[in-house]
Amino acid sequence: MAKHSGAGKLNTASVIRILSGSLVVLVVLVFFWPGIREADSRDQQWVCDRRPLLIENTRLPWQPGAREILIEDGRIMAIAASVPRDIPKLRVLDGEGALALPGLIDSHTHFDSLPGAKHLQGRINIKNEIFPMTMRQTLASGVTTARTHLARLDDLAVMAEVSEDSCFPAPRFVLSGPGFLGGAPGVNAPLMRGVGGVADARSQVAEVAGLGAEWLAIHGIARFPDEEIQAILETADALGLRVMADTGGFDDLETSLSLPVSSGEYINRTGANTYPERVLAAIARRDEAFYFVPPLGYYRRTFLYEQEGRFAESLERLPFIWAGLVKDIENSFERAFDEDEYIAAVVASYPTLEQKFAQLRVAGAIPVLGSDSGSLGQFHHDAVWQEMAAWLALGATPADILDGATTAPARMLGRDDVGVLSPGAKADVVLYDGDFESGQFDRNRVLVVIKGGVVFVENRDWIGPDLEQFRTALGFAAQSSD
Ligand SMILES: [Zn+2]
Repeated sequence: MAKHSGAGKLNTASVIRILSGSLVVLVVLVFFWPGIREADSRDQQWVCDRRPLLIENTRLPWQPGAREILIEDGRIMAIAASVPRDIPKLRVLDGEGALALPGLIDSHTHFDSLPGAKHLQGRINIKNEIFPMTMRQTLASGVTTARTHLARLDDLAVMAEVSEDSCFPAPRFVLSGPGFLGGAPGVNAPLMRGVGGVADARSQVAEVAGLGAEWLAIHGIARFPDEEIQAILETADALGLRVMADTGGFDDLETSLSLPVSSGEYINRTGANTYPERVLAAIARRDEAFYFVPPLGYYRRTFLYEQEGRFAESLERLPFIWAGLVKDIENSFERAFDEDEYIAAVVASYPTLEQKFAQLRVAGAIPVLGSDSGSLGQFHHDAVWQEMAAWLALGATPADILDGATTAPARMLGRDDVGVLSPGAKADVVLYDGDFESGQFDRNRVLVVIKGGVVFVENRDWIGPDLEQFRTALGFAAQSSD
């Protein structure tokens, strides 16, 4: 059987680039976590257990009867009541009757930021301290594909390099770069850039595409001069970039609907109870699908914190976190409620969200689940599960929610190999020990997480790389301060 190369971004050219970057040792040493000795690294950068895997004694949502899932070369080979077992080196994993879900897709994530750690943030190294926590927490929660929102250019390059490999202990990335900010030519921050004319627009978009982004993030789209936004969109289209725009404001949503913007980020967070009729009519009129990503869980979590004065969970219990960080998050969060106008707006708008969420869906916009993880109080550890709970609280059904976390984003991303459990798809599987079909969404019921046939969580425990292995694998060890 042909070995699937399984590594879109890790082609020969990029491997040569890595080798020439004097990282030879890393290519050899990466990822020997316990129990993993089997590897075929001819065309793969990372080393981990890629042997064929059989999951037995599992079931599929809303379907009767037990199923077995056979995985080979990072892909699902078969799903049936009984699948072939005469396969060399086959590993067998007992699903214990748990539900098998497709690996979840979180369509709005931030991996370079800690949820609220205002004081440590900026003083600690993103690649050494933040990525190992946020990326592993996200994967451990069952998210196997993540579209990122806003990234520094150097982080974007790092993430693109590792993106597709199943062994890498993070979700498969679908990347956007820094946000392009309308009407603010002077802005030149790592995460947000202004645009100074048509030529600058073209060259900045090309730079982001060249570093591996597939999406372009835009804020304040209604404030760009016409020729600038046209130059941005034309260049993006020519280079194969899709556009995600902040549509929290009515103006930005209306403008986005009139342009080739594929997804609208955020739901309206003003005190307005409803969307204006003209905006809803524009959604209904549009030929091209319009996906929207309302990070309802983020709004709900902020609202509940304001009501109850504390987080529902104990931060010390989060994996991959350390004590100083917990203190910083708690202090920062308290202060944010006193000082941050954005928080006040989120809290005030929450009671209006159920109606606005329904209006957008009825008008024909397609909801896609995105947690905005990394934003204040939205911990990567359980952000996707908080998001699902919020959708349920605000009127979606469990079936809608599973669509929003799997099939709908797969369509949005233009991929038919993720978000489904079917032969030929990527072997991204979450085994869930709970009544998902009735809306029991609980991060702690995630039993097993498999990305591209590689098992990262088993018996509820992380079995992937530890901190040092993670850093070594990404080539950060030499830069480590401790
Ligand atoms: Zn964001």
